[in-house]
Amino acid sequence: MRARFVTALVAALVFLPALPARADTPELQDRIAAAWRTDHLSVDPRLAGGVPATELTRIRAAMRTAGMPVYVAIVPWTPPLKAAGYNMPTLLHARIGTPGLYLLAVVNDTYWSITAEMYRQGGLRGRELVSVQNDDKQRLDVVTDRPAPSIVRTIQEASTALDGRALPTVPVGDRQPPNQYSDHGLSTTDKADRSAYIGMGIGGFLGFALTLRLGLRRRRKTAKRSEPPAKDDPPTEAWDVQLKADDKIRTAERALARLDKRRNRTTEQLDQRDDAYRRLDAARTLRADHPDDLLASAGALVLARQAERVASGAALQPPCFFDPTHNPGTATVDWSDDVEVPACQPCASVVRRGKTPRGLRVWSKAGLHRKQVPYWTLDPDDNPMVASGFGALSDDLPERVTAWKDEVR
Ligand SMILES: [Zn+2]
Repeated sequence: MRARFVTALVAALVFLPALPARADTPELQDRIAAAWRTDHLSVDPRLAGGVPATELTRIRAAMRTAGMPVYVAIVPWTPPLKAAGYNMPTLLHARIGTPGLYLLAVVNDTYWSITAEMYRQGGLRGRELVSVQNDDKQRLDVVTDRPAPSIVRTIQEASTALDGRALPTVPVGDRQPPNQYSDHGLSTTDKADRSAYIGMGIGGFLGFALTLRLGLRRRRKTAKRSEPPAKDDPPTEAWDVQLKADDKIRTAERALARLDKRRNRTTEQLDQRDDAYRRLDAARTLRADHPDDLLASAGALVLARQAERVASGAALQPPCFFDPTHNPGTATVDWSDDVEVPACQPCASVVRRGKTPRGLRVWSKAGLHRKQVPYWTLDPDDNPMVASGFGALSDDLPERVTAWKDEVR
């Protein structure tokens, strides 16, 4: 039975480009809603045995003391979730109808991410869950390699949002290893050295977010990219890029918070701080003003990645001109007649073979037939990301974003 399901899933993956994206989605919501009718903590059968009883016990204890109904679904990452994305709590609430906290915990490999939403009857007092989460200084320190820590924390945040109760301290066992990069006792020189080191290590510290972040693991598509672009390849998923951008914004915020905490900053560090904030602000602007737009999300990803590096004292890196969601452009290649562009290594090797990398593709609105085109074929006057190659052609994307914002208003 399960073997058949897995086979179906594999088939869906292989033929995904040919299927409507939401073909599988209702099934998952309906299965979770059905499971919740008997138990508000639902563990997907595909994970059976994969979640230790001690974790489930802790989650149940938190659910019991939450002060409101709490619905928790624990599921493995699957392609259908990609289509449902941020909407899952809403879709689930629509099926259950009861006010309360709706929480979906997704595991991708060993990485747990949470998306949660609180639903209240109109007029009830209390705070927004997201506002409590934004104020929760300890949230980003919670480990993400098992489900209970982040699920329990989210439930505690929801309770605080509901009735104002004090947010408990995160138990030591649920926190990332004690701050290895603590500044105490370091000279300024040590700090500067260390800040470069933090730049390298920071990627390993992923806090859990308010939302699903399933797209973190870069898919290995290099083999595919080296082939001539296939016409039917699906466009880059905007949703995937949005998650990466939001994740990177949070990482940059942490790097900046660390820099802000330092005393006796050098002039150079103050400059780095200003530059990092400039890039981070532009990234936030793009996400806030164009939440569903692929190009804006990719621009935010690039800017947040740069903000994190600059705040950590690492050297600025341009994006891969062909696809800003690739690794940074550490190689340089000739593009068109006399223009050199930064490119990631796989794209650079495609260009050196005389071919054009597939590039970041977007739907073109021109003509009767919607088709996917490389982003650099769009009109640069309409979009600062296109005009600057996401900052690969000119490192002025933050200024362009600000000007664009003023223009739109
Ligand atoms: Zn590339």
